[in-house]
Amino acid sequence: MPRVVQKRVKATAASNVKYIIRFTTPRHRIQFTCINSPSKPPIIRRLLPTATTTITISMDLRRGLPPKPPSTTPLIRHRKTTSNNKNNNRSSSSTGTVVDHRSPSPIPKASDALPLPLYLTNGIFFTLFFCVAYFLLHRWREKIRSSTPLHVVTLSELAAIVSLIASFIYLLGFFGIDFVQSFIGTSRVDEDNFTLEDDVEHHSKPKPRIMDPLPTAATLTSKKDEDIVKSVVSGSIPSYSLESKLGDCRRAASIRREALERKTGRPLLGLPLEGFDYNSILGQCCEMPIGYVQVPVGIAGPLLLNGGEYMVPMATTEGCLVASTNRGCKAIFASGGATAILLKDGMTRAPVVRFGSAARASHLKFFLEDALNFDALSIVFNKSSRFARLQSIQCSIAGKNLYIRFTCSTGDAMGMNMVSKGVQNVLDFLQIEFPDMEVIGISGNFCSDKKPSAVNWIEGRGKSVVCESVITADVVKKVLKTTVPALVELNMLKNLTGSAIAGSLGGFNAHAANIVSAVFIATGQDPAQNIESSHCITMMEPVNSGKDLHISVTMPSIEVGTVGGGTQLASQSACLNLLGVKGASKESPGANARLLATIVAGSVLAGELSLMSAISSGQLVKSHMKYNRSNRDMTVISS
Ligand code: ADP
Repeated sequence: MPRVVQKRVKATAASNVKYIIRFTTPRHRIQFTCINSPSKPPIIRRLLPTATTTITISMDLRRGLPPKPPSTTPLIRHRKTTSNNKNNNRSSSSTGTVVDHRSPSPIPKASDALPLPLYLTNGIFFTLFFCVAYFLLHRWREKIRSSTPLHVVTLSELAAIVSLIASFIYLLGFFGIDFVQSFIGTSRVDEDNFTLEDDVEHHSKPKPRIMDPLPTAATLTSKKDEDIVKSVVSGSIPSYSLESKLGDCRRAASIRREALERKTGRPLLGLPLEGFDYNSILGQCCEMPIGYVQVPVGIAGPLLLNGGEYMVPMATTEGCLVASTNRGCKAIFASGGATAILLKDGMTRAPVVRFGSAARASHLKFFLEDALNFDALSIVFNKSSRFARLQSIQCSIAGKNLYIRFTCSTGDAMGMNMVSKGVQNVLDFLQIEFPDMEVIGISGNFCSDKKPSAVNWIEGRGKSVVCESVITADVVKKVLKTTVPALVELNMLKNLTGSAIAGSLGGFNAHAANIVSAVFIATGQDPAQNIESSHCITMMEPVNSGKDLHISVTMPSIEVGTVGGGTQLASQSACLNLLGVKGASKESPGANARLLATIVAGSVLAGELSLMSAISSGQLVKSHMKYNRSNRDMTVISS
């Protein structure tokens, strides 16, 4: 089966704004119409502004691979007829358009890097090889005839030997690689079941698609791109300005990546470029993109929580973690489920302001903490968003400096932006009453964001949740392979006493951060907020006359949202959708984010239960060796 198949494609530009494209293959006959230019597929973009054109495209039939965008590989070559066109590979269509029928390889080959055309390079090395071989054989015969020792070589013979070896290495390398590639390519095609419908759909409606892309190198489409790369390398075009200059985020990423590779001399082959919607991160999630990192997503569950069942997505590269959480979910399910209660819901921001004296700073503190002023301040604060609602103001003084911790609800958003805007409104307002107030910073670390701190542990930040479950003795024995007394004792000595000895701050648990991080990454949360979101105290007590186990996790500062930030990206949004908490809640603003926080706590409960059981039964090392260490040869992987 051929690796690349030629397909006839007919595209007609019926008017300036309407384009029809037809695919005809032995198995498919597809036609679609694009009405206006922003939605037209890349194929059409390449055809413009020709009226009626017949072209041939090369189509990669490998399963699951995103169709190669025309910008990376010249799949379609489309030129006006010129009289001196002598290339046999090209033919003229009836409409005077020259069509290139060559099928470029979809996989970049080492030979692509050659400075000369392939046939020329091969020709040179072939000729060199046979010439020097003939020369050396000739000299050898002469030496035998004249009884000259064979190891005595002249300069020309030495040069011939070096040339022979060099050309031999080239030819061996070239044909050896091609030979291997032909096998790989063939086997991939044999598995194929590429559907054109998918391709057409994605062309007509560009969507972010994460589809096992090959780790492709950034390939440049044109001489123009090559010039831009050179300018970025030389520094005459700043890398950060590529998106705004080009108006094409994917192209900007490709050029930036190419420039980076040239500058550093380090190839980025393992980092995929294709298969990601770079528009979706512009101005919101990541600057100066050069690709994206793939993190596998595992699934744990069902987690039976407050009567609902949830399949929990976990993005992690730590073996055992998903399997362990899954076992915890199983134990909870078999014991009748877990219950989670939301205790508090409020995001915080604490600016630092300075006065000429501690007395003046105290005046502002009393003003802010006076209940009579709260209503006026909340009106000012709440102007920031229809979802922001000021809940409380807490002040702390350090000499002449005042730290003001504002807490507000933020609907389904995690809320950092929202609360910051509200705080700015209040500071502007206070400046009128306290003109001698100097705002040092909108964040004075009393908030406290992305740092371990007692204030979050004691007061809470984001969502405060407690989650509990009673695990029956039977389940402890059969599913968790341990006993209730062993678990209770281990929890007391490890999670409580051990953490106290370590001087822990909010770390009275076995591995809450593991589960929190994995769910955060899968659902588009800010992974750095794992620090305070993982604050957790795990309690285990015997109940029902000591037969069963009561386990709880108390987590005062889970910071999650279902709108804003990374939650709107395709993969993350799919994971939120799986949990039924995607986007803004229609029934009650904030309900989705609150539910997500309880799911995080429930998953932590499952994770704690399973890891603690593994430790108490002495299974930890054994299971890590099973799931964390495959029997693959690591030396092969590292090479
Ligand atoms: P954050 O404050 O977490 O950084 P953003 O400010 O980026 O989040 O995103 C919140 C945006 O989403 C705001 O513009 C807000 O008006 C909008 N939004 C829409 N629906 C909701 C909702 N149910 N809850 C909170 N914000 C919402």
